[in-house]
Amino acid sequence: MPPYPVICYRPGCGQPAVYKIAARWSDGVTEELKTYSLCCERCLAELYERSRSKQAACRLAAGETLEAPGILVLARGRHDFQLVRRQELEERLQAPTV
Ligand SMILES: [Zn+2]
Repeated sequence: MPPYPVICYRPGCGQPAVYKIAARWSDGVTEELKTYSLCCERCLAELYERSRSKQAACRLAAGETLEAPGILVLARGRHDFQLVRRQELEERLQAPTV
């Protein structure tokens, strides 16, 4: 995490980001967290949806895997893989809106 506040990725928002939307990518040898978005509470639903379509459209080479994007709580000074994942938020946002 950079020492300065991270701002929401949604253009014109300007709020500090509280979530990171990222997916685990691997080519079978190395593994990394691919960041799709950083966002504030209010923009989460929109940017999560966008990250999911981006992930779905991603073409993978043979041997590569890319998991569905997850919602991680940003915490200063923590490594990506140590961030807390909010799975219940992901499920709620994936539920079809009636
Ligand atoms: Zn925002």
